[in-house]
Amino acid sequence: MDIKPLQDNIAVVTGGGRGIGRTIAETLAAAGAKVALLGRQRDSLEDTARSIEADGGTALTIACDVSDMQAVPAAIAQAEANLGPIDLLINNAGIGAGGPIWEIPAQEWWRVQEVNVLGPFLTTQACLKGMVKRGSGRIINMGSYQGIAPNSDASPYCTSKAALLRLTDCTALEVEPHGIAVFAVSPGFVHTDMTRELEAMLRAKDPDFEGWDPAWIFPAQDCADLCLRLAVGEADALTGRMIHVRDDLDQMIADADEIVAADRYALRLTVDLDN
Ligand code: NDP
Repeated sequence: MDIKPLQDNIAVVTGGGRGIGRTIAETLAAAGAKVALLGRQRDSLEDTARSIEADGGTALTIACDVSDMQAVPAAIAQAEANLGPIDLLINNAGIGAGGPIWEIPAQEWWRVQEVNVLGPFLTTQACLKGMVKRGSGRIINMGSYQGIAPNSDASPYCTSKAALLRLTDCTALEVEPHGIAVFAVSPGFVHTDMTRELEAMLRAKDPDFEGWDPAWIFPAQDCADLCLRLAVGEADALTGRMIHVRDDLDQMIADADEIVAADRYALRLTVDLDN
């Protein structure tokens, strides 16, 4: 019989109804995982579930706002009750908001932190309870290049993704002794609802906006393929690091000891201690 790489693993994918999350969910399901799809809009979750089931996979839809402190533990408990203990958590759900700091409404700025930072914390906390007990599991957080580099008119998003990188390596440090690996991935620029909205906003501000450098545009499948390689444990030695889709993962795995010793592929302050 053909054994798939994630045969009977249980995965949770937040924001699995559309965009990058949908491609990740479909890819994990095709690799044999039973997938719980979390998101607010039931229609899109069910659409992804139908596509997974049409290909012979198993999917469970759970309508849930990832920033809801009561709903998230209940959603993870529901996923475990229906599918089994969770092996893999993909914190993909995310939102953006833009505008100069002196103009953006504080509530809008804060909402991005609630979804992009509090959300992954809540799902991670809920999943880790079982993972730590079982001594196994993997967590993948959807990072962004904007978490390591500042960008004007994007402070809520950049701040949230920087915080998510720190949550990633703090979690990795805490759970490594329990046999759990935690990564951040950066998908490059992917055409989705999020980036279509951003493009419309930039064009409204600047009609001459020419779009993005094609060299930075990647299909969602590249990110899904990267997540699959991390999900099967190929890169556990790189726990706590952020990996971009354009990175050479084979080379990184080969250089893992050196990367960890030099503390590369992580959010760090570069200081010259001699001055
Ligand atoms: P989309 O806007 O296409 O999808 C966002 C997903 O997040 C949807 O499935 C949405 O589902 C879910 N979501 C949003 N808010 C919540 C919430 N409060 N609770 C639960 N689910 C929520 O975005 P992308 O696919 O482009 O982005 C996915 C991830 O990738 C994000 O974290 C984003 O920051 C990151 N990213 C994307 C890049 C890109 O170029 N596209 C580049 C770098 C990073 P629903 O509406 O049903 O709740």
